[in-house]
Amino acid sequence: MPIDATQPYDDGNIFARILRGEIPSTAVYEDEHTLAFRDINPLAPTHILVIPKGAFVSWDDFSARASEAEIGAFVRAVGKIAREAGLVESGYRLLANVGMDSGQEVPHLHVHLLGKRSLAWPPG
Ligand code: 5GP
Repeated sequence: MPIDATQPYDDGNIFARILRGEIPSTAVYEDEHTLAFRDINPLAPTHILVIPKGAFVSWDDFSARASEAEIGAFVRAVGKIAREAGLVESGYRLLANVGMDSGQEVPHLHVHLLGKRSLAWPPG
């Protein structure tokens, strides 16, 4: 069920619970502002979710409310994680779903990093 990205942040969402350590995840990267972990239902051999530690519903919310430091750290981290996962040479896709039409399911901003297979574009 897609979420409504205009709604306020819900602290009970699954990624908030992962950030609090209430449910497990396979972390691949962590810094002051960012956590990255493997998607539980991978759509590619490498499928990593990168999330800010701050409470942001979506890319829309993040781009409107996050500090320059949070935005800078997050963008740097996404690039670093992709490099460290060895994705640059073969190529990869960044994807952030926002709200209803995108099918966003978890109301905490996450960037999907997909790679290690050919990624057809446009997707079906
Ligand atoms: P969205 O559709 O919101 O852009 O993507 C949500 C993603 O979160 C999906 O790819 C889904 O497989 C992943 N996901 C949902 N619940 C969990 C979970 O509990 N752990 C992990 N690691 N990934 C999850």
